[in-house]
Amino acid sequence: MSSPAALREGYEHFDPRAYLRNNYLPPRADFSSEEFVVPWKLRCLAETFASGEIRGQTLIDVGSGPTIYQLLSACDHFEEIVATDYLAVNREELGRWARGEPGAFDWRPFIQHVCKIEGRGEPWQDKERRLRQRLRRILPIDVHRPEPLGAPLHPPADALLSAFCLEAVSPDRAAFVRALAHVGNLLRPGGHALLLGALGESFYLAGPARLPVVPLQESDVREALAAAGFALRELRSYAMPPALRTGVDDVDGVFFAHAQKPLEA
Ligand code: SAM
Repeated sequence: MSSPAALREGYEHFDPRAYLRNNYLPPRADFSSEEFVVPWKLRCLAETFASGEIRGQTLIDVGSGPTIYQLLSACDHFEEIVATDYLAVNREELGRWARGEPGAFDWRPFIQHVCKIEGRGEPWQDKERRLRQRLRRILPIDVHRPEPLGAPLHPPADALLSAFCLEAVSPDRAAFVRALAHVGNLLRPGGHALLLGALGESFYLAGPARLPVVPLQESDVREALAAAGFALRELRSYAMPPALRTGVDDVDGVFFAHAQKPLEA
């Protein structure tokens, strides 16, 4: 088990480029088959947003890190996407992509794949432009504070997304539940929450940083969502195939949860 102080210290050494290399280049980001983990994550999000039920003015993404893949299906359904991260280096990496600056990570294969699975024949350049237009705020956040943004979001978000953040910043399951409740404060009653996260993971690497992760089972995710006041709508999981166990972490699998904040919270 880690302490909050040890976690904060660990994140000082987080290298966004190494993290992107470990998780968002082949073999994990291989679009030739849906058996690979990145296409699985993109499929979960594309199918969930395709229902048309999750939409509104604002979607907040908690702990965006240096990545935008999680926003590619979401951006068609919200006027504004608010990205957030604890680390300035990650917010800067996102800003470089949002402004289309040279040296930004190449998300084109992800955008092309999402356009393909959404099946509307949309040119990938249109989706890229739309996400850049709608990603207007990239804010600092700390999920360990009851007000993660330092002040309430006005108006509260219509939807909340968070990928691989809460379990990667919480020293134990109790802290994970508290973090979930804190980010729930950013969401309006009736709003939808979509979580992607690691199952059975105890650490991951990001360059010189070796970050502890609270190992979760599917039952922990169910219990945490209920304890934080969310109603679970759907839970899917993915088993990490041996070929993708590359040593950059010890993850066993990935969960995708769709939950909702009750109207009478
Ligand atoms: N969402 C990205 C993804 O899907 O790959 C990045 C996830 S990365 C495993 C965890 C992220 O949590 C990092 O970007 C890190 O900077 C951020 N983080 C660290 N401490 C945090 C905190 N106290 N509150 C919110 N985010 C934090």
